[in-house]
Amino acid sequence: MIDVLVVGAGPTGLTLACELAVRGVRVRIVDRAASFFGGSRADGIQPRTMEVFADIGVLDSILASGDLGMVIRAYKGDEVVWKGQMTEPVEPTPSVPYPNIWFVPQFRTEKILRERLAELGGRVELSTELTDFTQDVDGVTATLTTGGTVETVRARYLVGADGGRSTVRRRLGIPFPGETDETTTMLFADARVDGISHDHGRIWQNGDGGVSVVPLAGTELFVVTARPPADEHEPIRDYLQRQVTESSGRTDILVREVTWHTTWRANTRLAERFREGRVFLAGDAGHVHPPTGGQGMNTGIQDGYNLGWKIAATLTGAPDVLLDSYEPERMAAARTALDISTALLEKHRRGDDDAHIRGPEVHGLTLHYRGSPLSIDDRTEPGALRAGDRAPDAPATIDGTPVRLFDLFRGPHWTFLAFGTPPSEPLDPALRAYTVVRPGEPAGENTLVDNDGHIRASYDANDGTLMLIRPDGYIGLVTDSSRRATEYWTAVMS
Ligand SMILES: Cc1cc2nc3c(=O)[nH]c(=O)nc-3n(C[C@H](O)[C@H](O)[C@H](O)COP(=O)(O)OP(=O)(O)OC[C@H]3O[C@@H](n4cnc5c(N)ncnc54)[C@H](O)[C@@H]3O)c2cc1C
Repeated sequence: MIDVLVVGAGPTGLTLACELAVRGVRVRIVDRAASFFGGSRADGIQPRTMEVFADIGVLDSILASGDLGMVIRAYKGDEVVWKGQMTEPVEPTPSVPYPNIWFVPQFRTEKILRERLAELGGRVELSTELTDFTQDVDGVTATLTTGGTVETVRARYLVGADGGRSTVRRRLGIPFPGETDETTTMLFADARVDGISHDHGRIWQNGDGGVSVVPLAGTELFVVTARPPADEHEPIRDYLQRQVTESSGRTDILVREVTWHTTWRANTRLAERFREGRVFLAGDAGHVHPPTGGQGMNTGIQDGYNLGWKIAATLTGAPDVLLDSYEPERMAAARTALDISTALLEKHRRGDDDAHIRGPEVHGLTLHYRGSPLSIDDRTEPGALRAGDRAPDAPATIDGTPVRLFDLFRGPHWTFLAFGTPPSEPLDPALRAYTVVRPGEPAGENTLVDNDGHIRASYDANDGTLMLIRPDGYIGLVTDSSRRATEYWTAVMS
């Protein structure tokens, strides 16, 4: 029997598999596709996902594979009628080290995650389709079909990260309410285009339609978007060439080759449940979004990041309260993401002037789990930062050596922060514990000196406040009582 069978090796399944593998969980990840996905699809990585990638250990590769996005110019003929960026890049702050959306094609992001999984000893099994499964009190029995070969696999848990048409969700009979609007469609294509430079994106309006041609980060390709062709038999390259020539009025731009394309339909849906016993839904299997706002992949990655440590802890004896928290936490997050992308889609439909602009609401940094059964804040006067919130970054020193809180959080462990004085009760050795002091205050072992006050400023904590930070970087407990901290730890992890 293996521990976890992950069905689907898109960004969600790969993130989950990495989170499980790093904790020594016996995981298999299968995908029915014969080869790895090769399209740009989700090319916007949100700031919160950058933090997840830093924790997983892929941030350097992600940074090396993308950029901050291009300036876009909207043309009428030769005249530039609008110029700007989806988001204006801003400088990092002590609490937010990656404040900008980073653009990387989805096929690169997936490759980087696969490489990380390989470092952790895992690999994706291609051409392997989940065709059926049943579950009982001890585990799940799954049927995998590879070519003509049928295999039966026993796993303690099964996760359906198998996309919007999820076999797992359908097999469980979980309703997927929402709407598909066949009148709101768009053709997205990755293409080699000659005759234009790679230094900015272009939009050419043409009556009610038009075409956009935007460089695809880290590649020689462009993402070309246009209305889908009326004649579905017309070769896509020929159709796009016609659109570009007619919209731009230029005959010197050549669409040479289309490497991937899809016709997107406005499809907005949220599954009624994300869990049935030992089977979970994650990513597009549980929620599908319009691409406006770049929420789909980012939300799926956060699902995998949320679920991985919980399954791993449960496998080593942690109580079910952890797994019970997955659905309420991630369903609320998916709802928020759907509201964001739907509101932006409406702006596009209305043709609002600012429809292309993306604000901080898409970044995922303010997403919180305050309502979760895992979030307990028993202070009589809670501060601005509470249990369930993202634990911010901040600089400090230990024994005179500069460190960042994110360096201390990185890895599969929980972190304990005690403000002012160390806790009065001994802690579980599995916790990494630090005491936060002001400059000049007595500093013992594992004391973080908050030289510039950034920790206090962003954590809004008093002397005596204790905080437990979860492995996924959210604050689980805020209390003034050491006994309460021990009780929380026992209830959640032992
Ligand atoms: C044009 C476009 C632009 C987008 N832009 C953005 C963006 O900017 N930002 C963003 O966050 N999101 C964006 N998205 C959405 C994003 O691409 C998806 O949300 C994301 O791919 C979901 O990842 P996933 O891993 O959950 O599912 P998928 O990527 O769909 O992966 C599911 C995998 O499961 C496999 N599978 C399915 N059934 C089975 C089975 N029975 N057995 C085995 N394997 C199976 C499939 O082969 C597939 O590889 C965009 C989408 C589109 C179409």
